[in-house]
Amino acid sequence: MSWPSLVTPKTGDPNKRLYRFDEGDATMRDILGGKGANLAEMTRLGLPVPPGFTIATSVCQTYLELGQQLPVGLWEEILSYLAQLEQQTGRAFGDAKRPLLVSVRSGARFSMPGMMDTVLNLGLNHETVAAMAAQSGDRRFALDVFRRFIAMYGNVVMGIAAQAFETVLNQCKHERGVSFDHELGVDAFEALIPRFLAVVVRERRCGFPLDPMVQLRGAIEAVFKSWNTQRAKTYRAYHRIAEDLGTAVNIQVMVFGNMGPDSGTGVAFTRNPSTGEPGLYGEYLLNAQGEDVVAGVRTPHPICELQTAFPELFTRLNALAKTLETHYRDVQDLEFTIEQGTLYLLQTRSAKRTAQAALRIATDFVDQGLIDQKDALLRIDPQSLNQLLHRRLDPQAQPLVVARGLAASPGAATGVIVFSANEAQKRGSKGEKVILVREETCPDDIHGMIHAQGVLTSRGGMTSHAAVVARGMGIPCVAGCDALELDLMADTLRIGERVWRADDVLTLNGSTGEVIDGTVGLVDPILPPEFERLMAWADQHSRLQVRSNADTPQDAQRALELGAKGIGLCRTEHMFMSESRLGVMRELILADDQKTRDAALQRLLPMQRQDFYEIFKVMRGLPVTIRLLDPPLHEFLPSIGELHAEIGDLSASGKNPLRLASLHAALETVTRMQELNPMMGLRGCRLGLLHPEINAMQVRAIFEAACDVVRDGMAVRPEIMIPLVAHVNELIAVKRQIQAVAQAILSEAGLDIPYETGTMIEVPRAALTADAIAREAAFFSFGTNDLTQMTFGFSRDDAERHFLGCYLQNHILQDNPFEVLDQDGVGMFMRMACELGRSTRATLQLGICGEHGGEPRSIAFAHAIGLDYVSCSPYRVPIARLAAARAALGTLEEGDR
Ligand code: PEP
Ligand code: MG
Repeated sequence: MSWPSLVTPKTGDPNKRLYRFDEGDATMRDILGGKGANLAEMTRLGLPVPPGFTIATSVCQTYLELGQQLPVGLWEEILSYLAQLEQQTGRAFGDAKRPLLVSVRSGARFSMPGMMDTVLNLGLNHETVAAMAAQSGDRRFALDVFRRFIAMYGNVVMGIAAQAFETVLNQCKHERGVSFDHELGVDAFEALIPRFLAVVVRERRCGFPLDPMVQLRGAIEAVFKSWNTQRAKTYRAYHRIAEDLGTAVNIQVMVFGNMGPDSGTGVAFTRNPSTGEPGLYGEYLLNAQGEDVVAGVRTPHPICELQTAFPELFTRLNALAKTLETHYRDVQDLEFTIEQGTLYLLQTRSAKRTAQAALRIATDFVDQGLIDQKDALLRIDPQSLNQLLHRRLDPQAQPLVVARGLAASPGAATGVIVFSANEAQKRGSKGEKVILVREETCPDDIHGMIHAQGVLTSRGGMTSHAAVVARGMGIPCVAGCDALELDLMADTLRIGERVWRADDVLTLNGSTGEVIDGTVGLVDPILPPEFERLMAWADQHSRLQVRSNADTPQDAQRALELGAKGIGLCRTEHMFMSESRLGVMRELILADDQKTRDAALQRLLPMQRQDFYEIFKVMRGLPVTIRLLDPPLHEFLPSIGELHAEIGDLSASGKNPLRLASLHAALETVTRMQELNPMMGLRGCRLGLLHPEINAMQVRAIFEAACDVVRDGMAVRPEIMIPLVAHVNELIAVKRQIQAVAQAILSEAGLDIPYETGTMIEVPRAALTADAIAREAAFFSFGTNDLTQMTFGFSRDDAERHFLGCYLQNHILQDNPFEVLDQDGVGMFMRMACELGRSTRATLQLGICGEHGGEPRSIAFAHAIGLDYVSCSPYRVPIARLAAARAALGTLEEGDR
């Protein structure tokens, strides 16, 4: 078939609601949605796209605002556009001789794969089916299309469970002794149609609409409504897509992939979306419609087999793929249909890809001169780098591989088996590691996938829902593992003779497709070669430096390897957490005389000195910011409950009276130290002011270590950070303590080691009086964890446990402020502190070391207010480096749009 193009000048009318494909282009995504804009662009490029038209996204908003009413005059406009399609194709909608069939497909501004509705094959009834049968000479084909249409329309528009039709279809296959739909003959379909129509009557107490106009209107309204389904809302919330965008509706002439053995349908990527390797990648099914590929009903063939089966078509598809990739300067994900040997494109969109593929593609494109380095940086979502830092199976391990499926999304994961998305959500959201096992996933499972460590399906290919969604989220997935037999009634999974139940442990290797019994050790990933190149480009373009939070030499080493330019926060309290050190720390806290206290400090000193020495050594002269002890001392002691329990046991046994006495002493101390509000109690700099000997020990350890490092011929740059300062006098007093010890050690060693003292800004008063504080501080580091707590008046643990979920669900807050910096509130304090601080000390160094230091939107804000560095956990260093570059290049991170 070929269609002459109708040329109508663009109206330029801002109230225009409908656009033929030849009236739009790729720049019109806001109006036409992604799918519509790309269909228009492909039409403009003269590519083989069946004609159609798009209802603008704004109409969806109006429809929903009007309480699900089509706006006045819209239906008449739709009819006039439909008439143009009829004119273009020489067919008529509902015509009993040359019927026109259309698809009605959703398509929002941002891709939301499978989240909204689509209905294919509209325009069918008994008369048009007869006409199609006569025209094609193939009644089986016409009936196949009709039964698909009844089931799809019945499900999407009339809300009948797909299972109701599936059951009847399965009965029919069973009666005829066949396994697959395509094995059903014309008689079978002839018998199936009335049974499908009866399902509708049974489920809805009304007949199936046989008037094509009623069908069209119903399908268009269903697509509008599908914007607000729960799954679409969940997807938007997860991907931070605005609620008020609405979906466009694309009405397009049908072409048929189920018109016999020389017809088919498929999905193709212009490059491998897992690895980024060049070359057509994807899969297809012969004699099938598009839904069959995505739904995973039959496992499709890899696209390379098309080369053997239909070499000319393969060459043509390859050429089209190249054209589109070059035109869009990006890897494309295409949907195509072959109708009796003729190839049509039904969709193109920017392909979702793994981070590994994104790096390879971006660097390849730079090398080919298609994009420049800046474009490359702007194309990679910083958060996606998380995937590269994913763990994989320990190569030393000898995993028991029990089955193999498709390596659908890379990375390895271990967890307990759950069989439903609800269960995955319930348990995963509480921090339990779960593997979601399904025959196949569907858009309704999205809430469970978000909370799973990995996904395993028994059906479906590389482009099945599970595969696409898992790749997008960066969670491992093994798909189409057909050795699995699931019994969802009994909650069991069988592979051969072995049976696993819910709560048994499985490990998935999404990079190889292996399904492994039990737990397997996971190890750190190896970064692909393109990673360093891209990171080097990022550093060239960014202004913000990236440091890391690290409390051990191992963390420091990892941070350095991942490109950190220093340590922005070494939490010294973490150095006391090991069993042996905790004992000494407890002795210190429980000591009731100076001698015992000094003895404990003397034992802690060499341990701390060794820690600092190792970290300084690793960091080779880069700045290392060491924070003096911060948390309340009783955090190092056992809880009152534990002490009571042990005292009870020991008293009952009558043994070990010495231990009993010490437990009683500990209980008394813990009770005495207990605070009503420890977050606002004796912690931070207050601790060292009350117990100067602790600060003295820590500062001594820092400077003795620094002297050792210098003596060993290495450079060192200590920065001593004082926590939780609210008043400048606190800072002055602690600084005096530091200076006294530092001076004594340095003069005794005869060394001059430059060092800085500064403070965290983590309580509002510090931000408000930052001018006075900056007179005494060489640097500020924003402790945005505490600053968020203190600004909101939320205790983080209580808020996250009790009410933040409700706030987020009800959109009282758009983001968890402990994850994404609250720019309007906490950010205001930060801005103020920067300005006030720099007003009294122009050289004041400014950084951030709260959790937000590794979060891209917060990093963009840090850039905007002129901080010098961000500091984050080692694994987030690459994310922060990329985010810093993107901030410098002026990108708005998602959610700031
Ligand atoms: C902060 O408050 O942001 C901070 C880094 O300190 P901590 O998380 O250790 O309280
Ligand atoms: Mg803090």
